[in-house]
Amino acid sequence: MFLFIYFCGMYIDVFKFGGAAVNSACGIKNVAAILKQFSTGPLLVVVSAMGKTTNALEALLNNYMNNDPLAVIESYGKVRDFHFSILEDLFEDKNHVAFGEVDSLFDQLRGYIRRGHLYQDAPHEYDFEYDQVVSYGELISASILHHYLVLQGGHPALFDVRGLIRTDSTFRDARVDWKTTETLVQKAIPDYFRNHHEPGAIALTQGFIGSDALGNTTTLGREGSDFSAAIFAWCLHAREMTIWKDVPGVMNADPKWLKDSVCLETLSYREAIELAYYGASVIHPKTIKPLENANIVLRVRSFLDLELRGTSIKNMREWKIPTPIFIRKQNQMLISISPRDFSFILEENLSEIFRILANFRIKVNVMQNSAISFSICVDADPLKVNPLIAYLKKDYETRYNEGLELFTIRHYTDDAVHRIVKSRKIMMELRSRNTIQVVLG
Ligand code: ASP
Ligand code: MG
Repeated sequence: MFLFIYFCGMYIDVFKFGGAAVNSACGIKNVAAILKQFSTGPLLVVVSAMGKTTNALEALLNNYMNNDPLAVIESYGKVRDFHFSILEDLFEDKNHVAFGEVDSLFDQLRGYIRRGHLYQDAPHEYDFEYDQVVSYGELISASILHHYLVLQGGHPALFDVRGLIRTDSTFRDARVDWKTTETLVQKAIPDYFRNHHEPGAIALTQGFIGSDALGNTTTLGREGSDFSAAIFAWCLHAREMTIWKDVPGVMNADPKWLKDSVCLETLSYREAIELAYYGASVIHPKTIKPLENANIVLRVRSFLDLELRGTSIKNMREWKIPTPIFIRKQNQMLISISPRDFSFILEENLSEIFRILANFRIKVNVMQNSAISFSICVDADPLKVNPLIAYLKKDYETRYNEGLELFTIRHYTDDAVHRIVKSRKIMMELRSRNTIQVVLG
């Protein structure tokens, strides 16, 4: 109810733009146009790093951690040039303040990575350094977008998210301190909108990052900006949250793979969580949960085709299943584990195997148990799987097949299964009322 008063009768909306939306000057211009067209009231905008900047900063960080100054300079230069070429395209006036501000962010970053060499101050542990370095991607993109929106006559206010999202100190995978975050967000953002009713008033902030109680920068895990937006939506009791993407919405299959895939008009929160669980790259369950708790509609729509309405994810008692939904995972490996003496697989074996899997941080995509063997399907990541197999082989007969595909079909029909399996060899199959999973050779 207090929000009703704070925002003069208007509920706040939250928009999130990912790296693909802001990967070029054109992208930034498009975002500005979307904001002009779609902001009808108080709006909070969360933005990620531009394009593939996070990957580029990871490369820079690795060079820094490996103490390879030449490689550091080169990778730093790449990130800097990429952003400055976007600035050049956006701002005709080469004395525009945006250049100076972005320059000073890059100076800070350079100061940070030179520190080790100047003061012989060895880098801290990887996860800590990761957050200090990689977070510049979001700091820089938000600064550029902010200045461009001002140039276009908008009224954005840039909030440093590190003053709003408080986390613990689990670097690279920080846990949100909801209570403190809620207090900080509910103080800063409504205050701003109470004083800014003009059309185009926008609170702009960075996705992916936060800070711990000591003021260290933290990050919420890769692809964490959707989650950042959901945190704000939850704290502000937002009306809706929109994730702007380069696809028409949530599709029933990857359009690159299934030519006649269709966009799902609606999804229930539950179904969205299920899809994420089975590996659809829709939305992370972490993002859905706060929205579900506060009953905030999540829209996923295209920043490329504004005519399309996209997908609404919401609370639906009865979600009418429109079509089977396909999730494909390539590069899978099937590992079968049996006790050496061919005795039965018993609870003790299973609990030991699960412990080993957890120790090796292996995510099991499907598993199946028979009398004398336990089979798991996992991503064939040699760095993780090879040591696992070596370890298992000490105590178990361990066999594996590589080069497989895992298909999950939600709300499957015979036709849908046939379409996938065709004449391929089924290595494993698991079927429940709603879901079938098949591992194909
Ligand atoms: N820039 C970060 C990443 O690429 C966060 C995000 O995009 O959501 O992982
Ligand atoms: Mg990104």
